[in-house]
Amino acid sequence: MRIQITGAGIAGLTAAFEFACAGCEIELIECREGPGLGCSYLAGGMLAPWCEAEGTEKLILNLGLESLEFWTDNVPVATRQGTLVVAPARDRAELSRFARRTSGYERIDAGRIAALEPDLAGRFEEALYFPSEAHLDPRAAMVALAARLPGFANVTLRYGAAATQVRADWTIDCRGVAAQDALPDLRGVKGEMLVLRTREIALRRPVRLLHPRHPTYIVPRGDGRFMIGATMVENEEAGRITARAMFELLGAAYCLHPAFAEAEIVETGAGVRPAFPDNLPKVRRDGRKVYINGLYRHGFLLAPALARRAVRAVLDDAYFPEVMDADPGQRRSA
Ligand SMILES: Cc1cc2nc3c(=O)[nH]c(=O)nc-3n(C[C@H](O)[C@H](O)[C@H](O)COP(=O)(O)OP(=O)(O)OC[C@H]3O[C@@H](n4cnc5c(N)ncnc54)[C@H](O)[C@@H]3O)c2cc1C
Repeated sequence: MRIQITGAGIAGLTAAFEFACAGCEIELIECREGPGLGCSYLAGGMLAPWCEAEGTEKLILNLGLESLEFWTDNVPVATRQGTLVVAPARDRAELSRFARRTSGYERIDAGRIAALEPDLAGRFEEALYFPSEAHLDPRAAMVALAARLPGFANVTLRYGAAATQVRADWTIDCRGVAAQDALPDLRGVKGEMLVLRTREIALRRPVRLLHPRHPTYIVPRGDGRFMIGATMVENEEAGRITARAMFELLGAAYCLHPAFAEAEIVETGAGVRPAFPDNLPKVRRDGRKVYINGLYRHGFLLAPALARRAVRAVLDDAYFPEVMDADPGQRRSA
């Protein structure tokens, strides 16, 4: 079966991988010069299904658990060191609220925090530790995933190209927020981030800093680099980061450890997350076209599980996964 996939962000790359594993002939078309240069380029790379349950539905937890295995099995850059969740003393109520809404954590004291992250010794009296969560460097992960594709027979990668003629049995649309022309209920949610570099601090795992209005996180990237993210703004302006975002993100880093004040700012950026009104991902089938979209703030966490469902939805007409979104007629006949 011939499959044309449009868009080589994390949705398109994982779809290409899963369709190739299923023995299909793949043409992956990306309009930019390489894979993973859209919204996925700006991601933090947290694979945190239990933490994300704080603000979303059980579906995200279930799909996320499935995807965790994909990353640790297929992409060596994923590491499973857990997540630490802390709050400044004045916001300690936030820690209890977070604990009530999540599972899969241990409540730990200052001694255990110091054992896990020596550079945070003495800075927080308690924390939530989610031991089974993972993280990865999104850019390295996408390069690694794209590099595996030519290893399959019948995979063609076209970067810097536009999809013109469709010469396939099915097309899989993974254009992220650019698919608004076909998915009118899709919107963009801006996320701003920055990368700091310092040799003064070492962290082994992502640390989330709770705050009633703007919670933030810090993801270690190795080589003294830390990604600080991310804002959630209801607009579709990519690229520019505002002074307000810069204040919030730098303030969070400084609150986690004052040594961040001396860090070098090596990158700032803003991506536009594709989201549906309920902020849940969807696999939408329309004739012989399938859309994988609405990954919102969970692209890396969910893409492998969505890709598997898209493969089954193509190969098996009667299959109707929990993320499938179709017109009521199709839903009734499923
Ligand atoms: C600051 C920030 C932090 C984030 N942190 C995390 C995190 O820690 N964990 C997590 O799981 N998620 C995170 N996310 C969310 C994640 O980045 C998104 O959910 C994900 O990138 C969406 O992937 P996508 O493949 O749907 O879209 P994209 O990555 O935007 O990919 C779409 C691709 O389609 C291409 N394209 C568009 N039109 C065409 C066309 N006509 N022809 C060919 N190609 C086309 C684009 O160039 C692009 O490469 C974060 C997002 C942001 C902004």
